[in-house]
Order: sequence, then C-alpha cells, then structure tokens
Amino acid sequence: MKAVVYHGPFDVSVETVEDPKIEAANDAIVRITSANICGSDLHPYEGRVEFEPGSVFGHENMGVVEEVGPGVNRVQVGDRVSVPFNLACGTCRNCTEGFTSACLRANPSGQPGAGYGYPMMGPYRGGQAEYLRVPWADFNLLELPKGGEHELDFTMLSDIFPTGFHGTELAQVSAGNTVAIWGAGPVGLMAAHSAAIRGASQVFVVDFEPDRLKLVERFGATPVDASNSDPVEAIIELTDGFGVDCGVEAVGYQAHDPAGEEHPAMVMDGLIAAVRATGRIGVVGVYEPQDPGAATDAAKEGRYAFDFGTAFTKGLSIGTGQCPVKKYNRQLRDLIIRDIATPGLIVSHELGLDEAPRAYDQFDKRVDGWTKVVLHP
Ligand code: NAD
Ligand code: ZN
Ligand code: ZN
Repeated sequence: MKAVVYHGPFDVSVETVEDPKIEAANDAIVRITSANICGSDLHPYEGRVEFEPGSVFGHENMGVVEEVGPGVNRVQVGDRVSVPFNLACGTCRNCTEGFTSACLRANPSGQPGAGYGYPMMGPYRGGQAEYLRVPWADFNLLELPKGGEHELDFTMLSDIFPTGFHGTELAQVSAGNTVAIWGAGPVGLMAAHSAAIRGASQVFVVDFEPDRLKLVERFGATPVDASNSDPVEAIIELTDGFGVDCGVEAVGYQAHDPAGEEHPAMVMDGLIAAVRATGRIGVVGVYEPQDPGAATDAAKEGRYAFDFGTAFTKGLSIGTGQCPVKKYNRQLRDLIIRDIATPGLIVSHELGLDEAPRAYDQFDKRVDGWTKVVLHP
C-alpha cells in the first residue's frame, strides 16, 4: 500500500510499504478514507523531537473496517469508524478510569499513553496510508453513520475536536463564562467552537496569522491580533478591566513572538495575566518532557519558565495534558449528527495522499490559507 514516510527533518515522501496484517485476535484493519495532518506532526517534521526515519505519519484517522481478527465481535466489516489518536487497551487502571490518554499497557516504552505514527508512543504505524491496523478494535473504534455524510466533520473526532473540547473541560468553561484562547490553529479553533457549544458568553482567540484570525469569526468568537499590540491589554479592556474566567493554551512550547523568535513560556505568561484571579486555565498545547536530544534548550531541560508566582498569587487552577479522546468523541459525534457542531469548517484543503509532501511544506510554512489539510488516500 501507499503511505507517507518520514525520512528526516522537512523530508517526507509517499512510498509503497508493506500492507498491515491482523497481528492479534482483537485487531482490525481499517481502510482509510480521511487522514488529517496535525500541528503535532510538525514537531517531528521540523526535527524538534527524535524520530525514526522510515516511520509512517498519521494519528488523525477515519475509514471503513476492512477486516477483523477472531476476537473482535462488536465492530464489523463495513462499519464506518473514527479512530481515536490515543491507542488504548481498555482494561488497565487508567483506561478503566477514562484516561485512555495514559493507558499503561499500550505503550511498551513504559511512558503512559500510546498513539499511531509516533515511535515514542508505541510500535503503531500511522494512518496517512491506505490501511491502518487498530489494536483492541472493539474498545478503540467509534462507529459513525454509514455513507459519506459529514466526512469532514467526523474526521475531526480522532483528535482536534475532542482536544479543543478537552481544553475547555480542563478550564471548566460553563454557561456565561468569558474565555480567552491562545492559538488560532486547528486546536484553538476547536476550543473556540467547544466554548461556544458549552454556552460561553464571549470567546477571544489570540494569534498573528490573518487567515486563521478570519476563521475565528466563523466560529462566532472575537479574534485578537497579537501582531502589533499586546493581546493581554486588549482582553482586559474588552472585559471591562476584569479579565476572562477561563483560558485555553492551544499553541505549545514552540510559541513565538510576532517577529518569529521563540519564547516557550510567553503563552502561559499571557494566559496567567489575562485570566481573572481564581480563574481556570486548560493547557492542551504540547510541552515536551526533559529530552537531552531535543532541539531547543527549554525542551532539553523540560523547563518552560512561566510566571508561576503570579499564577499562585491569583489562585489560578491549571489543568494539562493529552486529550483522552474516548471521553468525548461519542458525544461530539452526536452534536455533529444533530448539526449543532460543524468542526469541518476549518478544513482548507482536501488532497490525495500523493500530495502529502507539498501539504506538509505549505502547512508548516503557514502559507496563507493552509489551515487544515485532510488527505484522502
Ligand atoms: P498549529 O501549529 O497549527 O497552531 C498553533 C498556532 O499558534 C498557530 O496559528 C500560531 O500562529 C500560533 N501561535 C504561535 N505563537 C503564538 C503566540 N505567542 N501567541 C498566539 N498564538 C501563537 O497547531 P495545532 O494543530 O492547532 O496544535 C496546537 C498545539 O496543540 C500543538 O502544540 C499540538 O501539538 C497540540 N496538540 C495537543 C493535543 C493534546 O492531546 N493535548 C492534541 C493535538 C494537538
Ligand atoms: Zn493531531
Ligand atoms: Zn489501558
């Protein structure tokens, strides 16, 4: 089959690799209909983290079940399914408590949590390919209505829609709250959509990219352009000097200033300043743990020096982490079916698998208009 293969920083190609096979009784093989490129794919693409050449990318996958192992009995051949990016056993202590993002069995490296397309998250090939092997298929796969409807909405259920929602859950967004989100990338836009669905009265989204700021309005939120003014001042002013109740970090440690210089702690500093005393912050942007092989000093040490003193003085609550997709994906699917949620509005490009190298290049360079790419193998 064809797949998107990583060779080194800024170097991916579409090649023929071996077809996946049923390896365990509870495996399924899914024929991929949509696989999205994610901001998380850019960390290895840019060489920020160590990554094995030859790996197949792709953790945002959906498709149709092609084959099942003898131990699979809920999911059936022909089912249309979404594949959560967290690959989980379903029976360990963390899975049974709903934290599939911290599964204790699926990742043999010992680090909690497993996923597709990341060698550090287990030996599971990615889904930017024609087919994908899904272990513990009965537990992991989410069934979708058959047919082709809502493909672009449903394909957001594997990661970014639940992840944006998780940001608002960690920040405890509830009816009438005001919310500030840093980052108008796909995850930040999904957090804005989620905040509106949860009844927020006002949602601000901070970024510098004009095309992304334009999309903010599509989700009924207020864009805050940080390119030539201080976003914290703007948000404080727009909330009558009070600050927002809730904040969501949807950028990650590669945060940079408008000139492009990286400041890994600047987004946390902004949030801590913009959220009112005793407010809440949800951090879903990725911060890498201590990794001596990492490309930046902050990531080498795993220390991102934000203003913890002010966070403490204001009594802020901060929640962090990878999204346990299964905790939300069924409910979010049903909001899509009822036309209450429309996450597919962020898609800018639908391309064939062969166009993946160009898509990575353009999405990584933030070329105007490249907000979210969906590959159809
Ligand atoms: P992205 O790179 O497309 O978007 C990030 C956005 O942040 C960009 O639009 C960029 O212009 C903006 N930005 C950079 N510096 C900024 C600053 N100082 N102030 C305001 N905006 C700034 O990425 P994405 O796909 O939207 O993902 C965002 C983050 O979420 C990444 O770190 C990604 O790895 C992470 N993520 C986490 C999970 C999870 O489970 N927690 C899941 C998916 C993605
Ligand atoms: Zn993703
Ligand atoms: Zn588990």
